[in-house]
This record gives sequence, C-alpha cells and structure tokens, in this order.
Amino acid sequence: MTLSLMSSVATPAQETPAAKEAALTQTQSSTLKSSMDKLETELVAKYGETQRARLRRGMTQVANFWRSEDGDTAAFEQFVRIQFAGDQATFDTMFSRFQSLLEQLDGHMGEIGREFRQQSDLDLGPILGFDDLFAAYDPAAHVNDDFFKNKLAFVVLLNFPLTTLEQKLQEGAKWSRRQWAETRLAQRFSKRIPAEVNLELGRAYAETSKYIAEYNIWMHHLLDEKGNRLFPPKLRLLSHWNLRDEIKADYSDVKDGLAKQRMIQQVMERIVTQTIPAVVVNNPNYDWNPYTNEVKPTTVKDFDESAPAATTASNAAEPNTRYAKLLTSYRAARKVDPYSPTAPTHIARSFNEGREIPEARIKAMLEQVLASPLVPKVARLIEARLGRQLEPFDIWYNGFRPRGAYTEAQLDEIVAKKYPTAEAYKQDIPNLLVKLGFSKERAEYLANNIVVDPARGSGHALGASMRSAKTHLRTRVEKGGMNYKGFNIAVHEMGHNVEQTLSLNDVDFTLLEGVPNTAFTEALAFVFQNHDLELLGLQKPDAQSHALKTLNDFWGTYEIAGVALVDMAVWHWMYDHPNATPAELKDATVKIARDVWNKYYAPVFGKQDVVLLGVYSHMIDSFLYLPDYPIGHMIAFQIEDQMEKAGNIGREFERMATVGSVTPDLWMQKATGAPVGAESLLAATQGALTDLAAVKK
Ligand SMILES: [Zn+2]
Repeated sequence: MTLSLMSSVATPAQETPAAKEAALTQTQSSTLKSSMDKLETELVAKYGETQRARLRRGMTQVANFWRSEDGDTAAFEQFVRIQFAGDQATFDTMFSRFQSLLEQLDGHMGEIGREFRQQSDLDLGPILGFDDLFAAYDPAAHVNDDFFKNKLAFVVLLNFPLTTLEQKLQEGAKWSRRQWAETRLAQRFSKRIPAEVNLELGRAYAETSKYIAEYNIWMHHLLDEKGNRLFPPKLRLLSHWNLRDEIKADYSDVKDGLAKQRMIQQVMERIVTQTIPAVVVNNPNYDWNPYTNEVKPTTVKDFDESAPAATTASNAAEPNTRYAKLLTSYRAARKVDPYSPTAPTHIARSFNEGREIPEARIKAMLEQVLASPLVPKVARLIEARLGRQLEPFDIWYNGFRPRGAYTEAQLDEIVAKKYPTAEAYKQDIPNLLVKLGFSKERAEYLANNIVVDPARGSGHALGASMRSAKTHLRTRVEKGGMNYKGFNIAVHEMGHNVEQTLSLNDVDFTLLEGVPNTAFTEALAFVFQNHDLELLGLQKPDAQSHALKTLNDFWGTYEIAGVALVDMAVWHWMYDHPNATPAELKDATVKIARDVWNKYYAPVFGKQDVVLLGVYSHMIDSFLYLPDYPIGHMIAFQIEDQMEKAGNIGREFERMATVGSVTPDLWMQKATGAPVGAESLLAATQGALTDLAAVKK
C-alpha cells in the first residue's frame, strides 16, 4: 500500500453544524446578491461580455463559502474587484503561480510529515511516547483553514470552476489538460473543514496504524493438539499480511503445509472474533494452542531481550481492541460530515471524491466477479490440483503461480544472497528497472529519485509532492538478509515509487500530479510485482504460465472482492449505528463477514459461516481502502494486457503514468482504449481455462 491516503481522507475547514452552516451560506448569498449584480455590471463593462458567465459563477462560488467573519458586503466587493482575473494574461499568470506555489506548499508539508513519522515508520529502535505525538501531528491540518482566512481559497473559487462528479463524468472527455488542471485546483477548496477535525483524523490514523503495525504472532509458540511446534523458531508474522502470505507459501510444504494452513486459519478466526488471548499478541513469552485456546509460559526461548516481558499466563481474550480501533477511525471520519454537504458521509467521500467512481458501480463490478459462473469452474480446477476438497483458507490458494515450483525456503535463500541489506537492493534498482524495459538512462533517472529506508512494518512507498523531493521505498530486511516476502513487497513498492516519480516529475501540469485514485497506483504496482520472479532471473512465462497467472489474478480478485464488500458493509453499519460499542461492532462485523461468505463462497467451498473475510488489517486503519484492491486487480489486468500488446513495460508505464489525475474511466480510455471494468479479466479467465484444458490434452 501507499501512505498517501491522508490527503484523500483529510480534506478542507469551520465549526458550526451542517444545518446552521447551510442557513449561514444562504444568508450570505442573499446579502451579497445586490453586490454581485452591481459587480457584474461594473466588471463586464471593464473586461467585456466574454467574462460575464465566469464572473457570475466565481462570485456565486465565493458567496457560498463567505461568512460574516470574512467581511461585510464592502469587503466582498473590494475582494472581487481586486482578485477577479478578467483578462487572459492575468488569468494565465494566476494559474501558473498557484500551481507552482501550491507544489511548494504540498511538497514541504510532505517532507515535514515524513520526517515527523520517521521514528514510527522506520526500524530505528524503540518508539518513545513523544514519537507517537510527532507521528500523529499533521502540519498541513490548518492549511485549508488558513487559505480561507487569508482569502487565497476565495481567489481560487472566484476564478476557477468547481465541478461535480456528474460533470466530470459527462463533460471531462472534452476538457483540455489545462481545464483539468483548473478543475483540480478549484477542487482543493470545495470544502471548509475545521483544522481540529483534520487533526483528529491524523491522530486516529496514527493510533490505529500503530496497533496494526505491532500485531505480530510468534509462530514457533503455536502448539498443535500434541504439543508440536509446526513453525520454525524466531518466525514472527504480522497480521494479517504475513499470516496470509505464510498460508500461500505453505502450499509448497508437502509434509506440514496443510496442518500449518489450518492452524493459521484458526489464528485468524480468533483475531476476527477477538477470542485470541490478549497475552499472545506480539509476545513470545507464551505458548498457545489456537484450537483449545490454552496458554502457558513458553518452554522455548527463541527471542532476544527486547521482547515484551512476561505477564500472567492468562487466556483472557483481547478486549475487542480491534473494533475499538475501527470505531476510532469511524468517529474521526464522521466529524468531517457536517462540513461536506455534497458528500456528507465518509462513504460518499470515499467513492465520489476519492475514487471518482460511484459506489453502486463499484459494488456491481465486485458482484460481477463474485457471482461469475467462472468461479465454480476455477474452484473445481483448484480441487483437482490440490487433490482434496477446498478449505476456507484456500481463498488464498496460490498454486496457479509458476512460483509454486520453488519453496519459500529456496526463494528466501536466493533473495537473501542477492540482497543481504537494504543498500544492496537499492544498488540493484537500476538493473531491475532495465529488466522491466526502462531505458538505461530512464532507469538511472528513476532510481536516483528513490530513497530506500528500513521499514518497521511490512513495507510501504511514500511519494513526494514537489519535484525537488524524492520518493521513499520502505522495506523490511531481516538480520539474515532480505527474504522473499520482503522482496516481493519491495518490488511492489518500487512500482509505486516509479509511478509517483513519473506522475509528479514528468506530467505536464503538477496540479494533475498522480493517478486518478489509489486503485491505479496499486494496479501499476501490481504490474511490477507480477514480474518479481523474472527480476530474480527465475522464470520466463510460457503460454501455460500466462494462463496460470490469469487464473491466479482471477482467484485473487474473487477473494478480495468479498473482503471489499465486507469493508463497505461495515462502514454502512457504523453509519447506521453511530453509538455502537466495540462489542456490538464486533458482532456486526462477524455477521457481515459470515453473510458475504455464505452468499458468495459457501456454495463453492461447501462450508457455512466462515469469518475469514473480516481479517484484513486495512479494515481497521485505512478508512474504507479495501475496495481499491479488487478494482485494482481489474485495472491491473487491463493495464498488463495493454503492456503485453505494446510489448514493453517500461515505455507503456511511462506513457500511462503521465496521463495524470483525471477520472478513472477517462484515464483508462487514454491508457488502453476502454473504460474501467471486470470484462477483460473475465474474458481472459475464460480464455485461460480453455488454454489450460488444451495443454492437458
Ligand atoms: Zn501498494
């Protein structure tokens, strides 16, 4: 994932409730009406008839946000006279200067935020109490408020157009690049949210992500019925990412793989239902049987002194902390609602403003995959390959990947030899990019813009917001060298870094920096990640492995589409039950996870009431981020397909990553010639099943 979500969560600033605000706006608009009529006559006489519509629109936009504290009617009139750019030359200068100065502002705020979170994000030793306070501080929290107070926001609103999602969808294809840049400029000031609300969002994100980043399970301390330890000493897995990836890796373990997978499923279910003993979280001092839930002091010391000290060996359950943290996210997000009249819930902001794809359309795309008749066909194929009936953890089946040819241990060895340190990986980035099809010169240019840091968590990419700053790749390198999981994640994050560099430094307008939404940055990162084995020099995909890769993508999309529906339904439930307790939220989440399972998975897996879809850690700290993953898979498939057609990843990546931040469908039209959708994934899946059947004959 990336850490750019705060910008989409934390939007603009003030303190009255919605109703009062609306009334205030109305009053101001009507008070200012005669001023606006007068100014229209005066300024049209000065600048000409061509400016009438622009002027009227601009004054209305300003009046809608103007409060009594901003000045009386005389102040409003004076403001409009001075700040309306009525001739093209002034207007162009205004556009350029706002663009470059806002880049400086965002860029430096980004740099401060990165430095302040450094101790918390990087593997730099203990986090002290004040480090958390630094990490929670958002230096940009007051910017929007300040820009309304000093009236720079009003300058923008007077001169540039606010647009709705409907307008962007209907008219955006006809806009020029400059018009799109103007739209993005105005959009920054489409809300006026109090700084303390933005600060609270930042605090909630820091608090919940710390909870997630420290949620490790010490695997050697899991005991089966006979007291056996299935996992090697020192193995510490972060929930849920590393646990899930261990399930995937265990398909290669002929002897103990199945027992390990079943045990991890049991651990995950106890996390979701919060029946996990509190003392076994991030603590190797206890041995735990996740089936009986028995806890006792450990008899094996596979940890160093820095592990948390032993407390009483109790199996008392974690006290619904997981859901208390999720409520923290929800309550912080809800505080924005009164100040966002056009998107009055976090759900609306997430889809209409964050993704710029309506929620109903996303839900339909997810259900199109979940209910596809291809699902049971692929499921039967997996059963045939496994030689047994599906079990719930097989939602993470990865045997379609050519990777199944290597054990995790073999891959770990190859990677550890190649990358003993984060620095070794950094040195190799230009070579990796050349292997992906970038020219040597471009590979050097891109590599020079990536700083590699040791991550505290599983890894992430942090983009810059000004061209003079660099992107950061955070990767976890264990003491014995990088392992395969770490490499796989690092390649993914490197995809983000390359996209972040191109979409900021090489796009025509910095106001169009980025890609339409996080699904696109994930999609582009998946393009890199999907080639990780080739980057290790292990594999040249043939027709069969291409078909396998398609089925892997399809199965992964099927899995995460259900997870996304759970995330969406849980956010709706929280909005419907604003005063819920953590225990009530737990019960609701468990029920939702079971319902989605029973509708779309139970018929395929032959087992009811499984809660695994609720285990994703992003649900807790990422503010409705999960739908980006399945949409990302669909988009990734469209993009990868286009890259295959074009025959060169590097060149196509550069072309696509510089389309910039337009709407998703428009971006995809430019990149591939078709809008966003599941169709190409489904068509290719059908094709892959056919191809695979042909190979077998
Ligand atoms: Zn990512």
